[in-house]
Amino acid sequence: MHIVHIAVEMAPIAKVGGLGDVVTSLSRAVQDLNHSVDIILPKYDCLKFNHVKDLHCQRSYSWGGTEIKVWFGKVEGLSVYFLEPQNGMFSAGCIYGCKNDGERFGFFCHAALEFLQQGGFHPDIIHCHDWSSAPVAWLFKDHYMHYGLSKTRVVFTIHNLEFGVNNIGKAMQYSDKATTVSPTYSREISGNPVIASHLHKFHGILNGIDPDIWDPYNDKFIPVPYTSENVVEGKRAAKEALQQRLGLKKADLPLVGIITRLTHQKGIHLIKHAIWRTLERNGQVVLLGSAPDPRIQNDFVNLANHLHSSHHDRARLCLNYDEPLSHLIYAGADFILVPSLFEPCGLTQLTAMRYGSIAVVRKTGGLFDTVFDVDHDKERAEAQGLEPNGFSFDGADPAGVDYALNRAISAWYDGRDWFNSLCKKVMEQDWSWNKPALDYLELYHSARK
Ligand code: ADP
Repeated sequence: MHIVHIAVEMAPIAKVGGLGDVVTSLSRAVQDLNHSVDIILPKYDCLKFNHVKDLHCQRSYSWGGTEIKVWFGKVEGLSVYFLEPQNGMFSAGCIYGCKNDGERFGFFCHAALEFLQQGGFHPDIIHCHDWSSAPVAWLFKDHYMHYGLSKTRVVFTIHNLEFGVNNIGKAMQYSDKATTVSPTYSREISGNPVIASHLHKFHGILNGIDPDIWDPYNDKFIPVPYTSENVVEGKRAAKEALQQRLGLKKADLPLVGIITRLTHQKGIHLIKHAIWRTLERNGQVVLLGSAPDPRIQNDFVNLANHLHSSHHDRARLCLNYDEPLSHLIYAGADFILVPSLFEPCGLTQLTAMRYGSIAVVRKTGGLFDTVFDVDHDKERAEAQGLEPNGFSFDGADPAGVDYALNRAISAWYDGRDWFNSLCKKVMEQDWSWNKPALDYLELYHSARK
């Protein structure tokens, strides 16, 4: 099968959040199953070009009143076509954040379909994502389906319903199949008017992580390579390196890591509460996060200033985007906290587990589907063929987060052997794309029937 993703994010060259990870890792998994995958992306001026191999300009075409250059290169072993309109639309120094984002991405979607048609491509599936490439679904049906691409089907994935509901509703209508990124989130949003009338073609397929990209045995950002066999030694070295790098006290204390966009969705009041609770329990806390909203960013800058003077040896807030540091935190933390108010899938808890860190999460969306509380979810885990793997809570108030975090930190203090064996166990659980990629292939096949 030939699948073309039309997307505006792709890890690691143009990643803002989980959408970028998924485009790359799902594509790699499907390609590994011997299918052919191409990705079409805008050629942003802020692309991380050092991760693109053999980039060269292949051709150009005229469309939409401008010349569009088509560049080709390899990213993580995937074939990527970069569209560069000569009107400067993607030379804004950012991926999102322009006043005319809707117009920019609408133009890109149309230009991508035009490229496929003019280039003589006949993909089996065009896969588009979220509000930003949702226009592909209706532009395809309106302009391209009857002209050379009649056998192609469109699959649309919702990574987050919060953004761009109008576009998402329209793509739900026009796509042949639609998915979202976990079974529980699919149920949570199934009553939304833009989804409710399309349930017959709507499926929740859990995201995975790419085990080669996230691999503690082969990770240049951590000091000692480790597997589940030497997880204790590997994580101890990573924790020391993290403490050293951030100027924290080098001590054997429970370390809580938080890696997140700082937005309302991620449970900001719960994050703040958890920082204080961790410090009260004599733990260390490291937060890596950035806020698109300057008011929230400012608020955290103030909190950082305060904490860095009151608890300089036990709290560090790094308020930027830093991929290498995220690797060291996943490896060096004992716990990764994800207290989201809603979470379509969530990748941080999956990555945490891959690095033998214990997830402490709010029970919502994909967090509910992947984290099974050691005290409460034995049966639910067993039904998935798994053992319990973390700590979780309901509710959206500080008492909830306290309930999970206190149990987690107590478990760390009270039973290190038990805790270490839990770390080993979670590392051995498979949260890769092995199964979800097969689910997507089945969906692609059913779209073509
Ligand atoms: P979302 O897509 O809502 O942001 P996900 O959990 O699906 O949330 O994906 C977030 C991804 O972005 C993860 O791979 C996480 O490691 C990464 N990430 C988030 N914030 C940062 C940051 N400040 N620095 C580095 N990586 C980050």
